[in-house]
Amino acid sequence: MSRHIVVVGTGAAGLTVAEELRHLGYDGALTLVGGENHPPYDRPPLSKRFLAGEAEAAQLWLAGPDVLDRLDATAYRGRRAVAADLAARTVTLDGGTVLPYSDLVVATGVTPRTLPGTAGLTGALTLKTLDDARALGARLLPGQRLVVVGGGFLGTETAWTALALGCGVTLVTPTTTVLPGLGDRVGSLAGERLAAAGATVLTQVAVHSVREGDGLPRGGDLDVLLDDGTRLPAETVLVAIGSRPDTGWLSVTNLDLSDGIRCDATGRAAPRVHACGDVAAWYQPSSGRHLRLEHRMHASDQARVVAADLLGEHRELDRAPFFWTDQGPNKIVVHGLITPDAEFDAHEADTEHDRFTGVYRTDGRVCAVLGWNNPRQAMRLRRELLTDPAPAPVGAPLAAATSAG
Ligand SMILES: Cc1cc2nc3c(=O)[nH]c(=O)nc-3n(C[C@H](O)[C@H](O)[C@H](O)COP(=O)(O)OP(=O)(O)OC[C@H]3O[C@@H](n4cnc5c(N)ncnc54)[C@H](O)[C@@H]3O)c2cc1C
Repeated sequence: MSRHIVVVGTGAAGLTVAEELRHLGYDGALTLVGGENHPPYDRPPLSKRFLAGEAEAAQLWLAGPDVLDRLDATAYRGRRAVAADLAARTVTLDGGTVLPYSDLVVATGVTPRTLPGTAGLTGALTLKTLDDARALGARLLPGQRLVVVGGGFLGTETAWTALALGCGVTLVTPTTTVLPGLGDRVGSLAGERLAAAGATVLTQVAVHSVREGDGLPRGGDLDVLLDDGTRLPAETVLVAIGSRPDTGWLSVTNLDLSDGIRCDATGRAAPRVHACGDVAAWYQPSSGRHLRLEHRMHASDQARVVAADLLGEHRELDRAPFFWTDQGPNKIVVHGLITPDAEFDAHEADTEHDRFTGVYRTDGRVCAVLGWNNPRQAMRLRRELLTDPAPAPVGAPLAAATSAG
């Protein structure tokens, strides 16, 4: 068959693969399968400007109609891949359409985890899609009470936005601080800032259950019961307890799906199958581990490596991934990878004025740098401290998967 690249998932990663393929001169057949009924859009504003009502949906589109036209791709929008046969090289969509491919790129992202017992509760929501953000935003009216379950980036960002909208906000997390991935010091500071802005931040306590709240003395549609017996009435509960890779449709293949799709250092998961973005766990030569990250820029960085690899050009991913989070007025950027045992050392600390940088060290080596309202200095530190002295070896091992479907 002549070359036909099928990309499943049209978020940041899937769209970037398609754009980069054309940019690099690929002029063969290209098909894009996207499960959502929207043009490809950017997710980070969903918990920030878009949720706050400061951006229109049209401002989130990652590509306008002209760009999509220029891609000259067959697009299936609002259609999901439901199965793949890697031996026959076909993908089946809902509705039964079978797409033969010469190369498959999987960029299906992740799906939020939910709390047991919350399915079907009107006010218990998760936040992943544009439609989720619309549903949540419609409930975040002044005076309404929001309980955020989970103290990660999504939970804290949404808590800040809900405060700005005039809601009463309680955030519950079983960890010792919010943003536990940033370590105790930065996490404590982030929690203090959130509390100072008006949120009630409850750490080291888990949610036992969420139920319909009819008949509660203080009203509220929902009743959130914590492990320590505390009851929190709320009109809305945001469940932000992490996510799982969207790989169910690949379950009958031989791909290694132990945590997302296991790939080599250029995104190859099996012969003629690549994966990139949140769904993909790439081999990282510098650490010798497979790593799956849920960061916006990382998704498009991987996508460009995949597009090049599909066209026979070897590229490598930078050792130091980048992400940011907006904590209300405070913008945090991180370059590199913060290992669980890393120690944080504030570099140029001005915590009083909420502007500092710091480095994370593990075994005496800098593994990451952080900027708190100080992106330029963080970038300078990245250049100084995070350049890889030993370039990654070419041809890292392919994942254990085979081409059998
Ligand atoms: C609310 C929110 C805020 C965020 N904020 C930040 C931030 O501040 N900084 C940061 O670095 N990162 C942030 N992120 C993470 C960032 O958005 C992701 O890392 C990025 O979107 C990943 O892109 P992706 O293309 O891999 O996956 P996605 O954007 O999830 O796209 C995957 C697409 O595939 C589709 N799909 C899934 N299964 C199928 C199927 N079987 N068939 C067809 N299509 C399918 C999905 O519907 C989806 O449209 C945020 C994420 C969210 C949800």
